[in-house]
Amino acid sequence: MSDYQMYHSLGGEPEENQRLTPAAPGFRPPVAPPPSGYHQSGSNLPPPGPPYATSPYPPQDAQQSGYFPSQPPQGNTQGLERQMSNMALGDTGAVRHKKRDRHAYHELQSTGSSQPFNGIPQTPHAAQGGIASYGTPGALTPSGSFGPPSGYGPQGTPGAQFPVPANPAFESDRLVSQAEYAARPSSSGAIASNQLDPEQLPSVPRSRDVPATYYLENLFPTMESMVPPPASVPFAVFDQGNSSPKFARLSMTHIPVSAEALAAVGLPLGMTVQPLAPLQEGEQEVPVLDYGDVGPPRCRRCRAYINPFMTFRSGGNKFVCNLCTFPNETPMEYFAPTDPTGVRVDRLERPELMLGTVEFIVPKEYYTREPVPLHWLFMIDVTEESVNKHYLEGFCDGILKALYGDSSKEDAPRKLAPGVKVGIVTFDKQMHFYNLSSNLHQAQMMVMPDIDDPFVPLSEGLFVDPEDSRAVITSLLTQLPQMFSPEITAGLKNPEPALLPALDVAVQALTATGGKIVCSLAALPTWGPGRLFLRDENAATAGTDAEKKLLTTEHPGYTKLAARMVEAGVGADFFLASPSGGYLDIATIGFVSAKTGGEVYYYPNFQAQRDTLRLAKEIDHTVSRATGYQALMKVRCSNGLQVSAYHGNFTHHTFGADLEFGVIDADKAIGIMFSYDGKLDPKLDAHFQCATLYTTESGQRRVRCHNLVASVADSGAEAIKFVDQDAIVSLIAKEAASRVPERSLKDVRNAITEKTVDILAGYRKNFSSSNPVGQLVIPENLKELSMYMLALIKCRAFKGGREPSDRRIHDVRLVRAMGPGELSLYLYPRIIALHDLAEGDGFANENGHLRMPATQRASFARINDGGAYIVDNGQTCLLWLHTHVAPALLEDLFGPGHNTLASIDPFSSALPVLDTHLNAQVRNILAYLALSRGGKVPALQIARQGLDGAEFEFARLLVEDRNNEAQSYVDWLVHLHRLIQLEMAGQRKKKDEAKSDESLFVGLRTPYWG
Ligand SMILES: [Zn+2]
Repeated sequence: MSDYQMYHSLGGEPEENQRLTPAAPGFRPPVAPPPSGYHQSGSNLPPPGPPYATSPYPPQDAQQSGYFPSQPPQGNTQGLERQMSNMALGDTGAVRHKKRDRHAYHELQSTGSSQPFNGIPQTPHAAQGGIASYGTPGALTPSGSFGPPSGYGPQGTPGAQFPVPANPAFESDRLVSQAEYAARPSSSGAIASNQLDPEQLPSVPRSRDVPATYYLENLFPTMESMVPPPASVPFAVFDQGNSSPKFARLSMTHIPVSAEALAAVGLPLGMTVQPLAPLQEGEQEVPVLDYGDVGPPRCRRCRAYINPFMTFRSGGNKFVCNLCTFPNETPMEYFAPTDPTGVRVDRLERPELMLGTVEFIVPKEYYTREPVPLHWLFMIDVTEESVNKHYLEGFCDGILKALYGDSSKEDAPRKLAPGVKVGIVTFDKQMHFYNLSSNLHQAQMMVMPDIDDPFVPLSEGLFVDPEDSRAVITSLLTQLPQMFSPEITAGLKNPEPALLPALDVAVQALTATGGKIVCSLAALPTWGPGRLFLRDENAATAGTDAEKKLLTTEHPGYTKLAARMVEAGVGADFFLASPSGGYLDIATIGFVSAKTGGEVYYYPNFQAQRDTLRLAKEIDHTVSRATGYQALMKVRCSNGLQVSAYHGNFTHHTFGADLEFGVIDADKAIGIMFSYDGKLDPKLDAHFQCATLYTTESGQRRVRCHNLVASVADSGAEAIKFVDQDAIVSLIAKEAASRVPERSLKDVRNAITEKTVDILAGYRKNFSSSNPVGQLVIPENLKELSMYMLALIKCRAFKGGREPSDRRIHDVRLVRAMGPGELSLYLYPRIIALHDLAEGDGFANENGHLRMPATQRASFARINDGGAYIVDNGQTCLLWLHTHVAPALLEDLFGPGHNTLASIDPFSSALPVLDTHLNAQVRNILAYLALSRGGKVPALQIARQGLDGAEFEFARLLVEDRNNEAQSYVDWLVHLHRLIQLEMAGQRKKKDEAKSDESLFVGLRTPYWG
């Protein structure tokens, strides 16, 4: 990799204390302070010293040993490589880890050894550290113990194995829950599961927990040839000239020299960019640089912005573009002499020459109109359903909290940036506008009854400063639920919202300024122009053209509206609640968000009691996260490469044009695919620059530049050592999502399978041919790729079987838009056993960092009788309670009297604040999880075994089991292994071939996809 030294030797040594060296004893990074917000009993963060509140229990309390006695550690992570290298597919008589049959407070037995599998010696490859291999020589050969292919499933039709039928032969002496059943080895996979110890499979939880602990104490330096930390793990970055992985990740940091070399690797070449990604507390803010009227220096030929990899020549009179190699004249005002080594003397004082990510304030030629602070327009559904289900009340309350915080204190700090304005519109069959001027006693309502040709009926007072008009806004939002209640409207039934006309007039109101719409809706908009109808009648449409239709919109009104919004620099977030689980046509309504860069929050079965807290948190998140508007994005790359595709939620008029966003926020990410238009020069590095031009909330027009450099690798073998698994998962997921609904879901699932086989078989063929044929060999940095790909096949966006079209398309767009961290969690949840917490878990360690318990595998086989678990996938956060959960545990969590499952309110969405050790631990852990999650802010949802509907969601999230119409992790690996062997033997049939010459994943072309 282009190393740090190389570029910095140009600029002199960085200050010694900036260098990243292994943490010295007592080293505390300047960043990554203790996560805040972990208080007990509402106390403030304690001063240095014993951090966080101490346990109210004396050490000898039962808590010390947890609700279960302590267990042996869950596997030695350092020995992981060794264990995996020894994983045997052959039946070596090892003890499988059985589900532990035990109850709270019962003595536990040791659950088996985490030693290397049955003492089989390591393979030489593992010792080299580059390869993890599964299986001993010959253990899994087509003719070996694995059995003939027909013993496993219909040959050549892997898709047919996915809908795993319930096993009718299974008998049990007691009722078995769906989740429990799914965790059992399938009959077809029995051979495999007897032979493959699930404990030994690459573990996503371990792949996160180990780096998470490391990055508590260490920074990630961006130019030291390190593969970035997993995206779902909190880490702090030292920007050495390459952008932080929080902003941009390349699928590989050593890029193959040619298309052929890339094809041999089978991996996508691409980049994910999350331009406004949030930084961790304590990380250096992105510097904002102002060059006045001349603007930032740029390459004359390719228009790239000045960056750390441009080099200066001729005593500083010229700078050579790192992207197109054009030698530019240095503008006079930017001139500085170079020292004898050719480095600008002012380099160390120039952030744009030192940092991978900077922002430039830009002058007028970058405007299409004078930028102003962001205008927020809240559009509130006041129809019957919204009122009756208390959605209106929750939404109004949420806006109030988002604008003014939880407290009603007058001196609370301002929440929105100075100059930001807000407006409020309500709608049912008509639109109601409000004059919120601060000089009014209370808001004045103006009704716009004309839905065919609506216009904004007031010119003054629609948008106001939220602080100046605080009294007016507060009183209006407090009164709205009452104003539209049936008593006041005299029973006037008004069930049908006229959404499109309301959005139309909202855009009119924002055309002059641009801005962001936050719109609530609680019923299918069936009134007036743009009315929608019940398209999805829950018929079996899987795999048909009818299904494709349901996942798209053909309504010209909405497509036109979205185009107008982007043009005007307007975007929309929708808060959609379907109180009785009814159809909302999210395919059509969400289209507006998808095209304008907005977001959809969806409450599929809104229950005020349970969901109001979540609603409020998510409105607050929407309003408080970094948001820009009227954005354009341009990606540039080195000669020899070109952008081949973009994936995400945006508007893109023609290929080659910039991406356009009405709005863009901290949580949105774009996938960019590259292809070769020549050969790269192995003596040079490959460079990438993503420039996002946008207007900030405070009304400043800026360009944010992210710069990445990668070295050019002569061989694919070199390239595959430096791959970023999260970037690869993201790119495959985003490309898959962008194929919906153009291709059937089944095609997409097959393509994901084929892609996984391509990558693993490519590796097997080209780089590990010395391994015995029977081994499944996986590149070290892609150990968990197979699990993530299985999870992708199982996620709501792509899974087989029936799924309401609203939920389906919502998740498809979600996958397309979310960043790598949020996606990682979405695919594989974090699961934490609460009954097993050590005493110090959930409290700060001696360095002030919160001590997090290990997470565990998403399989019911790991669920203990009597256990209590947090299951968090970033979209949902469940507290799952086993039927036999200890009464004492329940009381510690929920308070006195709550000692049975029945006594717990299934609608409670937060834990009470109690003076027990466990309660504090769990609240701290939840607060920590909330810090690293992404765009959604789920409240806690209770899932009591056998009692609550949320239990189905729990079963769905156990992605290592057989569920979501797909295989278990073990069966999946066996399946992949077989396909790889077919490929190696030249016998693999690709399902796609028969249908079309065209590859499904154009950006992921490999030898097999043509
Ligand atoms: Zn250039």
